[in-house]
Amino acid sequence: MVKYKISIDENKCIGCGACAAVSKNFEILDGKSRVKKSQITDKDFKLNNEAANLCPVRAIKIEKI
Ligand code: SF4
Repeated sequence: MVKYKISIDENKCIGCGACAAVSKNFEILDGKSRVKKSQITDKDFKLNNEAANLCPVRAIKIEKI
């Protein structure tokens, strides 16, 4: 099973909420996005990746682990 690690660059995040609108794995706290589950598997990749692609400042990084 392929696993991925998700991280958010808080310095880049502008709190627009696009990631949270697409995936329940993100929430906005104090004007910044926070990832709930920072390690995911294949089945959650699609939505999380969509959120990352929608981020206007490319603050979400997803890497294979
Ligand atoms: S889409 Fe990007 S800038 Fe917007 S809240 Fe999410 S991480 Fe922050």
